[in-house]
Amino acid sequence: MSRIGKVIPELFKSLTSAPATVDFPKSAVPVPPDYRGKPVLIQEKCTGCGLCQRDCPAAAIEMVDVGAKRPKPAFDYGRCAFCAQCAESCRSDAIVITGEHHLAAFSREALRAAPRPEKKEEEPQEPAAEQE
Ligand code: SF4
Ligand code: SF4
Repeated sequence: MSRIGKVIPELFKSLTSAPATVDFPKSAVPVPPDYRGKPVLIQEKCTGCGLCQRDCPAAAIEMVDVGAKRPKPAFDYGRCAFCAQCAESCRSDAIVITGEHHLAAFSREALRAAPRPEKKEEEPQEPAAEQE
């Protein structure tokens, strides 16, 4: 078959099929189910043990005071290598690896995710001494 004979069917196929590219960022880019994107904290489950910070190879996690008994992890997505080690290390399933990868920002600060403030847990009250 001549060269033009090969090109014409391909041309018609391209004209009638959906585009192979995505109109990013207007449309979401589909990712595989096990894609390692942005790690996100489920704060209610976090015990503040610090294992995620200890095991993060990129030093992208800082334990910060949120007013609770123990500090909670803050993520710096500007440092994160999206390796998912933090979720692997967390024994409380408090870190979820999402498929989110659209993380471009205009400042380093915008790439930091701090845990929300929490109420301090009430210390158990000592029973008042009886007065004679
Ligand atoms: S995904 Fe990897 S680099 Fe990113 S915060 Fe978790 S352990 Fe650190
Ligand atoms: S390892 Fe899990 S429970 Fe421990 S501080 Fe990190 S997120 Fe919280």
